[in-house]
Amino acid sequence: MASFRSRSTEASQAAAERRQREDRAPRLIAEAPHLASLKLEIEEMRQGASVPETVHVKHVAVAHAPALFDLPCLDSTCAGGGHDVTNQVLAALRSRLPKFQGEHACNGMTRTAACTRVLRYVGIATYK
Ligand SMILES: [Zn+2]
Repeated sequence: MASFRSRSTEASQAAAERRQREDRAPRLIAEAPHLASLKLEIEEMRQGASVPETVHVKHVAVAHAPALFDLPCLDSTCAGGGHDVTNQVLAALRSRLPKFQGEHACNGMTRTAACTRVLRYVGIATYK
């Protein structure tokens, strides 16, 4: 139980740090003032696997969202990982791309080895 408790404390600390980073980040609308809507389709898979393990769609609230696209690694045993695609996404939005995509390999560590999770995203945006 003790180890469970410390893991959940780590998780809540990570969540608190994430909120702080989001609060400190510039607003998305300041970084991409012509953006009207943004949706990210996110697939997460293991390296070498062709079938995504997880697919979800993130609708971004453009008016309020921080200019921060730092997605957590979905491997619960991964430490120090995650997928910060902020620079790639902001570059696409500044170029007013209606659709863009990219990949990001997690560089965290699981208990036994380097994490092999790869995040693939497709962004669909509209502009004013
Ligand atoms: Zn990871």
